[in-house]
Amino acid sequence: MFDTVLIANRGEIACRVMETCRRLGVRTVAVHSDVDAQARHVEMADVAVSLGGASPAESYLRGDAIIAAAQATGAQAIHPGYGFLSENPDFVEAVEAAGLVFIGPPASAIRAMGLKDAAKDVMARAGVPVVPGYQGSDQSPGLLASEAAKIGYPVLIKAVAGGGGKGMRLVENAGEFADALKAAQSEALAAFGNGHVLIEKFITSPRHIEMQVFGDGTRAVHLFERDCSLQRRHQKVIEEAPAPGMSAEMRAAMGQAAVRAAEAIGYRGAGTVEFIVDGSGGLRPDGFWFMEMNTRLQVEHPVTEAITGVDLVEWQLRVAAGEPLPCAQEDLSIRGHAFEARLYAEDVPAGFLPATGRLAHLAFPEGARADTGVRSGDEVSPHYDPMIAKVIVHGPDRDVALRRLRRALEETEVAGTVTNLAFLGALAQHEGFSRGEVDTGLIGRDLEILIAVEDTEPAALAQAAVMLAGLQDARDWLSGFTLWQPLSQRIALCVGDKKVMAELCVLGAGRVDVAIAGQVVAARLGSRGWRFNGQAARAAHVEDGRVTLFGAVPLEVVRIDPLEQAGEAGAGGDLIEAPMPGLVREIFVAAGARVAKGDRLAILEAMKMEHALRAARDGVVAEVLAEPGGQVAAGAALIRLEAEET
Ligand code: ADP
Repeated sequence: MFDTVLIANRGEIACRVMETCRRLGVRTVAVHSDVDAQARHVEMADVAVSLGGASPAESYLRGDAIIAAAQATGAQAIHPGYGFLSENPDFVEAVEAAGLVFIGPPASAIRAMGLKDAAKDVMARAGVPVVPGYQGSDQSPGLLASEAAKIGYPVLIKAVAGGGGKGMRLVENAGEFADALKAAQSEALAAFGNGHVLIEKFITSPRHIEMQVFGDGTRAVHLFERDCSLQRRHQKVIEEAPAPGMSAEMRAAMGQAAVRAAEAIGYRGAGTVEFIVDGSGGLRPDGFWFMEMNTRLQVEHPVTEAITGVDLVEWQLRVAAGEPLPCAQEDLSIRGHAFEARLYAEDVPAGFLPATGRLAHLAFPEGARADTGVRSGDEVSPHYDPMIAKVIVHGPDRDVALRRLRRALEETEVAGTVTNLAFLGALAQHEGFSRGEVDTGLIGRDLEILIAVEDTEPAALAQAAVMLAGLQDARDWLSGFTLWQPLSQRIALCVGDKKVMAELCVLGAGRVDVAIAGQVVAARLGSRGWRFNGQAARAAHVEDGRVTLFGAVPLEVVRIDPLEQAGEAGAGGDLIEAPMPGLVREIFVAAGARVAKGDRLAILEAMKMEHALRAARDGVVAEVLAEPGGQVAAGAALIRLEAEET
């Protein structure tokens, strides 16, 4: 076994690889960009080497700097994780030329699978079923059109160098073919510098089922399948193993095909053979076709680990260190069922926009495996993938595992950024998915239902109001501290893009009536905590005038500073302050500027809305105290006007 391994990656996968290294007593070396200097993977490693920069090109893609770091720290091997340099054959050769071990397949195996047309040829020769189609070098439009007609519509045009769904076009009939071909070719040329395409039969009602394989360079075994049919725009969202509806006969046929694929290219290490499966009318042993091979550890490998009990990273390290395959095919078996959900910082209602922000609070439930590269307090930076964690559950059967997934998602606590938790929860509740009826079109068809946010309940809003008014602490009530609070107070809240007023009326010790959203909610403090109209308080995090209530549909509520109302009313005057925490978008004035009452002085972006901050009176700007692009706390002074002459 190696003494020291360098992990050429960041985030959850770097941390996950280090965990296994540690368990095996292997020293770890992290590399990092400037923005990742304090990241969790850096903290976990025994040694860390800075690569500089922020963008991947300036850091995690600098193969020469990574090899130099390995040599300088005495590492004998480099684990590439996934993404970045993991499937770059030139990097593999450079690592080996430097006398180091690449923990992954040989460069030749990566090259053999690099282009879709060549890969399909290799697979067809090895006896692996491929999607019927044309993958020849003659690219004349006339020939391609007649091949499409031979295959039979609908067909799919795919860029041979494609990835991430780019350069791919679905063509329903011959009349649309010429235009679709032109579009696919030019997209492929722009994205990959290679305009070549292949044509294949479009499988209706397709399922994405992939086989985990593991080779030692000569022999290979498979570790069963994963179903990754729950995709949004070709991106996997929830994965599971085994695949619902899989028969022993079909599993054996797919497993043998995957092993043939791996052995045909002398595969070493962990790999995945992706198949497209015709899901219409149930799974059949002759209804699967090779799509592509991923020559690395996959994001979703934990579901395979959960059902087989194998640590795939340990196998990677052992085989790379020259040990034989840890076990034979007949030693492997499936236990129970597992799911993985990918938790992202993203704004789902806004069209799944990647989000950034500081994770004010982050906690995962016990009983679930959470693979993460961030901690409470960390930033989700705009430089990388906004994945926060992968939440993985296991159970004796699919039903129990799915129940555990729902519960784990409900009990996952994230404050400080919007996430896709409610969307994942809705998916885990989806009736068809619950019955195991999955196909790659499911999310697209039911997207509206899956992203519909429940109407906010008055009880939840009342809890937020009590917390934001500072009335929730039981000790305060016992010590009489709350008697200093006014008996009745009105506060303004911001929920999504809506402003909501709450009127809190203190009736006695631990008894508050909250008038909100057209209802009066009884907030009562009992021996087991607060109840709101009889419902137990939800787990929550409050910080900086912002409360996040956790649960199936997380709710974020911000208190609007009363100063804003004062400003609107024309009182106050000298200071223009941020009414809530947010980002200063623009500042329209400089010191010395003469302003009139009502002029727009700055724009603050908060809660996904832009708020104009206006002058409360005529005057002259004395000082600008904030900068565009800066993050400010509620109440921060942004602009000061010269004192009024009296
Ligand atoms: P890329 O490399 O661009 O991601 P893939 O070949 O992996 O492209 O295909 C991406 C997705 O497109 C698959 O997961 C599947 O959902 C769909 N797909 C691919 N080939 C077919 C096909 N022949 N018929 C129907 N759907 C397909």
